[in-house]
Amino acid sequence: MSERETEVAKVELRNVSMSYRDRKGKVLLAVKDASLRIENKPDIGELAVLLGPSGCGKSTILKAVAGLMVPDSGEVLVDGVPVTGAGRDRGMVFQNYTSFGWLTVRQNVEYGLRLQGIDSQTRRDQAEAILKKVGLSEFADAYPKQLSGGMKQRVAIARTLINNPKVMLMDEPFGALDPQTRWDMQALVLDVLKTVDNTALFVTHDIEEAVFLGDVIVVLSHRPASVLSTFRLPYFPERDSRLKVTPAFRAEVDKVMELLHQSEVHGDVRLGL
Ligand code: ADP
Repeated sequence: MSERETEVAKVELRNVSMSYRDRKGKVLLAVKDASLRIENKPDIGELAVLLGPSGCGKSTILKAVAGLMVPDSGEVLVDGVPVTGAGRDRGMVFQNYTSFGWLTVRQNVEYGLRLQGIDSQTRRDQAEAILKKVGLSEFADAYPKQLSGGMKQRVAIARTLINNPKVMLMDEPFGALDPQTRWDMQALVLDVLKTVDNTALFVTHDIEEAVFLGDVIVVLSHRPASVLSTFRLPYFPERDSRLKVTPAFRAEVDKVMELLHQSEVHGDVRLGL
């Protein structure tokens, strides 16, 4: 057994296939025999990006890791334990804002702790710390409808972080934001994940976003999603918006584009890098 095989992955998919069935019983295969490993990096965290065309099955894979949908075949493991349902150890951030409109920002963020029966002082202290982390301290008493799209997504991230999840699952969280807000949010994600040494699985169809955020990129085929390639990005010491115009960054973007192009031309082939 190799050294790699002895280590328990943070998240692992083993030959996962998943499908939807419509009312007439017609089956749509969304994920086909997908296998991937996200390594456990206890001190630094790991951000893995699932990159693939719209409709290929990315969210479906995320739903399996979240325990919101059961694979037809194959297995999903978190810390080596098979996923059997949803749990607070996996926090999900969706593209659509998911705050409660009738609660203030602070109450939204405290909500998860309230469900756990945690006392009000502890809730308040923890919410305050997280609101500070996501830059929302001044808006603690505002209601979601008073916030911009980017700020609403900050609330969603804070609501997830407060549960201290082992894995953050982010489903195109910035897809609805304008480019500049999107850049700010990408920087925020990198900042926040650095401080909580978290593992994140981030879904996007945006190649630049994938290269900017990822430690690892998992490139998926067209539907049904299968894994075409998994590769580690080089370490970029300074990840800010200036990085995106550097030759090193552009070279990685080109590499991914070439990979996707080859999969268009050659169909469902497994590509090694
Ligand atoms: P992606 O996240 O890559 O855009 P999804 O995982 O959302 O793709 O969807 C994969 C495929 O499954 C798409 O063809 C989509 O239309 C279909 N699909 C997604 N959710 C459902 C559903 N609840 N019922 C039926 N089909 C669905």
